[in-house]
Amino acid sequence: MRSADVLVVGAGVIGASIAYNLARDGADVLLADRAQPPAGSTASGSSAGGVRQQGRVAPEIPLAIESIAMWAGLADELGMDIHYHCHGMTFCVDDPRLLPALHARVARERAAGLEIRVVEADALRRMLPCVSPRIVAGSYCPTDGHADPMRTTRAFSLAAERHRARVLWDCDVRGFRRDGDRITGAEASAGPLACRTLVLTAGAATHRIAARGSVALPMLREGFLQMMVTAPCPPMLRQVLAWVGHGISLKQAPSGGFVIGGGWPGRGDVDRYETHLIPGAMAKSAGTTVNLVPALAGVPVVRAWIGIESYARDE
Ligand SMILES: Cc1cc2nc3c(=O)[nH]c(=O)nc-3n(C[C@H](O)[C@H](O)[C@H](O)COP(=O)(O)OP(=O)(O)OC[C@H]3O[C@@H](n4cnc5c(N)ncnc54)[C@H](O)[C@@H]3O)c2cc1C
Repeated sequence: MRSADVLVVGAGVIGASIAYNLARDGADVLLADRAQPPAGSTASGSSAGGVRQQGRVAPEIPLAIESIAMWAGLADELGMDIHYHCHGMTFCVDDPRLLPALHARVARERAAGLEIRVVEADALRRMLPCVSPRIVAGSYCPTDGHADPMRTTRAFSLAAERHRARVLWDCDVRGFRRDGDRITGAEASAGPLACRTLVLTAGAATHRIAARGSVALPMLREGFLQMMVTAPCPPMLRQVLAWVGHGISLKQAPSGGFVIGGGWPGRGDVDRYETHLIPGAMAKSAGTTVNLVPALAGVPVVRAWIGIESYARDE
């Protein structure tokens, strides 16, 4: 039987980074995932790649601020270009009624130590000439950015292996092995796995797997988020944009294509890992995007995908 001190179930960005950090610190780690890298339609393989500190719930903000220092050195540490760019992010507002909430959030985040400010219409126009004149203000955080999510996730699991973690792909964890109250391992498609500590980082499947071991987790809400990429355009946006109240995020990749995230959701079935794009919903998200950046009118969408995001109930 395979055994390890720590068994990490799920090699998305969370599990892979935990495996890497534990292995680097000398732990004996086994990382198991039901899929092959990249992680397909689960979250890390389909993320929009935004590296964002603003707009988070309060307890996350100090962690997010600290993580930016880590991101700056991560490519060197992991030995892979993860396409990390730190050119800032602006949350745009078009409805003057939302301005008090924008100012209050920025004040709270500044008090928590984040470098962020409100940019009013004229200054915003100078900073972001591609954005529609309907935008009246935005919250600008210069240290937000974006990275390539698949590369980042893969970089963590490869670096974990270099630190002697063992990785089992195509290994579906189906249940737990127990000794009384203690979990002593897992039952998996690759056979039984023994461990002293089990870390469950299976994204949207986490609470389902936990329930098989009679562990109830107060989670999750699930979302089926659609992503689109446009044909290449001339360079016009270095920052990441989000549009408050419209759920859209937007960035321009180094190749010139715009990456459109969020907006109207698709649908799927988490138990079967099934996801479906909804063309009508994609059209609505594309229309919203054109309202934010008018120069994108008529630019074709060349690729789309969907991923499953899951949240703890308290976010
Ligand atoms: C479309 C989309 C866009 C997003 N955009 C952003 C963004 O811009 N910025 C941001 O910060 N976040 C974004 N997110 C959220 C972010 O992607 C997630 O928070 C993050 O990827 C979660 O990682 P994870 O490792 O917890 O889960 P996952 O990436 O879902 O990984 C879970 C892993 O567990 C494995 N697994 C599941 N069941 C089993 C089993 N039975 N046995 C073994 N392995 C199993 C899966 O194969 C998978 O590899 C986005 C999410 C989506 C879906």
